[in-house]
Parts: sequence; structure tokens; C-alpha cells
Amino acid sequence: MNIHEYQAKALLKGYGAPVAEGVAILKVEEAEAAAKKLPGPLYVVKSQIHAGGRGKGKFKELPPEAKGGVRLAKSIDEVVAHAKEMLGNTLVTAQTGEAGKQVNRLYIEDGADIERELYCSLLVDRSVGRVAFVVSTEGGMDIEAVAHDTPEKIHTIAIDPEAGVTAADVTKISKALALEGAAAEDAKSLFPALYKAFNEKDMALLEINPLIVMKNGHLRVLDAKVSFDGNALFRHDDVKALRDETEEDTKEIEASKWDLAYVALDGNIGCMVNGAGLAMATMDIIKLYGKEPANFCDVGGGAGKEKVAAAFKIITADPKVEGILVNIFGGIMRCDVIAEGVVAAVQEVGLKVPLVVRLEGTNVELGKKILNESGLAITAADDLDDAAKKIVAAIEA
Ligand code: GDP
Ligand code: MG
Repeated sequence: MNIHEYQAKALLKGYGAPVAEGVAILKVEEAEAAAKKLPGPLYVVKSQIHAGGRGKGKFKELPPEAKGGVRLAKSIDEVVAHAKEMLGNTLVTAQTGEAGKQVNRLYIEDGADIERELYCSLLVDRSVGRVAFVVSTEGGMDIEAVAHDTPEKIHTIAIDPEAGVTAADVTKISKALALEGAAAEDAKSLFPALYKAFNEKDMALLEINPLIVMKNGHLRVLDAKVSFDGNALFRHDDVKALRDETEEDTKEIEASKWDLAYVALDGNIGCMVNGAGLAMATMDIIKLYGKEPANFCDVGGGAGKEKVAAAFKIITADPKVEGILVNIFGGIMRCDVIAEGVVAAVQEVGLKVPLVVRLEGTNVELGKKILNESGLAITAADDLDDAAKKIVAAIEA
């Protein structure tokens, strides 16, 4: 689960990280009052969308020479003028895709005088099984390009979970970022605080790009992106409350209500599978036969008929889906339950695309009987390979 920059900054501020004062607004009329709460004379007006690259982004409704989604302002009037231009319009960035994202909220912030822009993130480094800091002196721009062109400028410092962030770790990180004086002093509290926030809140990613050294020598968190581990949300009601459903895929929201493991993808074969491993294998074999899956969907082991029907409806509601592949290996999950769920969903929402079903395992005969007697136009498949071939052939026909 992702949150907005202003929420991430408030969270990090609670851990003692240096962030600017700021006010989030939803309406142009709130811009003046928001700016008046800040010291000035430099302000920043920042689009709050769940995507990066806002600074270099372009608004669809504005001429190409108009400024992007993060703007500096030197007066309150200028803040208001920017707010008028930005709110309600669609920002297209390198991360939003062509459709862009509507800017429904702005964050008006106290502007900083920047000396240097650095990169600092925390993530779970699976190669060492630890949370690691990834830092670079080349902040503010596209870190993927830095990683590609000058990998030596990216430093990874993994943290021993028992010891936490030690003084030696701070020294390593500070050295990699060439921090001196006041900034090196700030680093002593900032890096342990970030690590603490990451662990306590079960984050999957904490990215500060840029972390800046200001002209006055101190550090400041200028941008913040936080993703939380969805599997740990049950123990963080405060984090759950930060969810902005307008930023999320509606199909994924519906799926999360049913506790389905569902991820929307770009292809056109909808998949309903039980078990993450089988779901991955199903996606792989669809690709092997030259097509792309429209989603990852694991209905899990103990799903009932209603949950199966909900999953099927979510898949069919996707306009990109040109065919559906149901691939079930009945272990704990019974094939007849799957069959009933599919039939119930189709009776409710209809079936406008080809459907291939491969059932195997517990109660397979009963499952097949339910499907056969339903009168639905279902193509039965014998195994995974046969199923993938049949659904690919069906959508090409
Ligand atoms: P992003 O484009 O979505 O990553 O948004 P950022 O929050 O990283 O802002 C983009 C860029 O705007 C930063 O890299 C800075 O160069 C600039 N910027 C943001 N806030 C300030 C500020 O307070 N002062 C100055 N001078 N520049 C800022
Ligand atoms: Mg940024």
C-alpha cells in the first residue's frame, strides 16, 4: 500500500526526521490560508499523486511550456496562481503512464535553499536478508539511470537486525553521501530514525529522493515515498487510515475487500488460479504461448463460492480481458466450489469472452459435472499446457 508524500513526511516527522512545514489542501480557496501559515518567502506547491517524477511531469490540460507538478513560488499570490492551474488537472509523469493522474490534492510547503540533492532509500535486500540503506550523491534525478550508467555511485549498506543502525553504519552512509559538518551531525539521528520507522511500520520501501543538504548545512527530507507491506497492514490501523482509494486500481480495492491476492497487469488473458505458485506458473505459460496475463489472481485455499464468484466478477469487469483461464488444482480448495462460483458469477454478470477451465484434484468429477450441466460455453482443458494453448487459440480466433 502506498501513501502520499505529505502523509509520509508527517509520519517521518513523528520519528524526528527533518521535514519542512507544510499544509495539504483540496481546494484553490484553501491555498492562501495555507501559504500564510508558512514562513515564506519561498514556497513549493506539490501535486499529491501516488507517482514520482512529478517535477518533470506535464499537465494534460496545459500548454507544453507550462510548469510541471512541483513548482516553486516566491509569493502567496504565486502559490494561489499555481494552485489554480494545478488542482483538478491531469499530471502525466514517467511513472503514471499516458493516462496520467488527476491532481486532487496539493501540498504547500516551506521552500528550502538547496546546496546538494542526495538519494537515500531503505528496502528489504533479499540477497542478504536484511533491511538496507541504498544511497547515492546523485539524488533528485532518475535513480534508475544512475544505477544503469554509473553503478559505482550507488552504495548499499545492509543493517544487522540485532544491532540496528550502529555509529559505524552512520559513518559509512555519511561517507557515501560525503556529508560534513552540520549534515554529518544530523545524520547521526536521521538514519537510525528512518530505520526505526521502516521496521516499526512494516514498510516495504522508504525512498527519499532527494534528501538535501541545505545552504545552511543541515539535512532535510525533501521528497518521501513510502510503501507498506500489505501483509502486515492488519497490525497498523494508523497506516490503514492513510489509504487513499482514489489512487488505487478499483479492481484491486474490490479484491482486497474479498481478501483475494490480485494484481492488475497489462495483458488480456484474465487468470483465476489457486495458489501463488500455480498462479505464477499460469502467467509464465501464457507468456510462453505468446500472450500476456491481465492479472495475477490467487483465490487461495479455503475460498467459498462467494469469494470465487467475486474474483470472477473482478476479472470479467476488466475491459482489457479478451479471454479467461481458470486453472485450479483442488487440494484444500474443492473443484466443485470453484465450479459453483464460476457458474454463479456468470449467471449474474454474463460471459462475453471465451472461458477455458482446467480442473484437477479434489472433487474434480463433481466440478466438471457442474460446469457441463450449467450450459455455459466453457472449453475444458486437460492440463496446464493444454489450457494455455486453448485460451491463446480462443482469443486469436
Ligand atoms: P518528484 O519530481 O515527484 O520526485 O518531486 P520532488 O519532491 O522530488 O521535487 C522535484 C524537484 O523539485 C526536486 O528534486 C527539487 O529540485 C525541486 N524542489 C522541491 N522542493 C524544493 C524546495 O523546497 N526548494 C527548491 N529550491 N527546490 C525544490
Ligand atoms: Mg523526488
